[in-house]
Amino acid sequence: MKCCRCDQEARGVCRFCGRGLCQDHQQNRTFVLTTYVGSKRVPKSLVVADALYCGICKPQPEPIEMPYLD
Ligand SMILES: [Zn+2]
Ligand SMILES: [Zn+2]
Repeated sequence: MKCCRCDQEARGVCRFCGRGLCQDHQQNRTFVLTTYVGSKRVPKSLVVADALYCGICKPQPEPIEMPYLD
């Protein structure tokens, strides 16, 4: 796989969109795995710090509500 921003061999993939990234173009960003309501009804997020990020895609800061399909 090649980097999405140049033609070097990719060293990893963006955690958000799956684009290939070389070492020069990889960035880091906190990745939200899941959000849930903890004790005392305080919403909590399970996150991965420093997940690989391409710098191109635009992950939403909050998970989007997915209405259940009938
Ligand atoms: Zn690159
Ligand atoms: Zn991406």
